[in-house]
Amino acid sequence: GLEIDDVHLSYGRTRVLRGATLSVESGRTTCVIGPSGSGKSTLLRAVNRLTEPDSGDIRLAGESVLDLDPDRLRRRVGMVFQQFNLFGHRTVLDNLVLPLRSVRKLSAAAAQAVALDRLAEVGLVHKADHRPSALSGGQQQRVAIARALAMDPEIILFDEPTSALDPELVKGVLELIAELAGRGMTMVVVTHEMGFAREVADTVAFMDQGRVVETGAPRQVFSSPESPRLRGFLSQIL
Ligand code: ATP
Ligand code: MG
Repeated sequence: GLEIDDVHLSYGRTRVLRGATLSVESGRTTCVIGPSGSGKSTLLRAVNRLTEPDSGDIRLAGESVLDLDPDRLRRRVGMVFQQFNLFGHRTVLDNLVLPLRSVRKLSAAAAQAVALDRLAEVGLVHKADHRPSALSGGQQQRVAIARALAMDPEIILFDEPTSALDPELVKGVLELIAELAGRGMTMVVVTHEMGFAREVADTVAFMDQGRVVETGAPRQVFSSPESPRLRGFLSQIL
């Protein structure tokens, strides 16, 4: 699992994380919700060391991520962003093959085999030879998810994976993430999709002002929120 323990992080004088604590069990899906600017993206970025906390600890399977080599860490922690972050000048297949070769050090043949398997899983083998720009946003995001899966990570972090998509493309991506949840992938999903959080999450964590203010089963968090700030947040969005 993943343990985020009392993490503080400032950018200059802006205190972005102020003692964020979150425990993510293996095999479970945790959805992180909360207002804009509450530190959700920063928290995910701290987990795979795209940014460094000032204090506190983050442990993956009991090992402090600060003690791990960043390249090894990023093999173990997959990340899927709002904007897909695919290599635009490479084919869909190469988007998977290149990291399989450089990060997992597979041979060309083995990398190709794994890449095609993962593309099949997300229903996009027939797009293998296309550039990402020839795909819909939803398809591009499914390629990004396939690329994360190809690393065989212990956990995947999603930062608003459907926020950049046209409304009609959201469902397919959420269904794919739900399917991964059903297979027991460990995931943290920052999302504004409350219906998804309610149906798919094992745990919902509400962040506000740099802290995880409340966590619980979706039913509890959405139906009987304890903190006034969560109640206020829910009343604005639901
Ligand atoms: P949103 O829902 O809008 O994505 P968020 O909860 O993901 O918000 P963060 O992106 O983590 O919030 O940002 C939290 C705060 O940190 C914001 O006030 C933001 O302006 C600030 N911040 C984030 N990244 C940086 C940075 N690299 N430099 C300076 N300030 C930053
Ligand atoms: Mg964000």
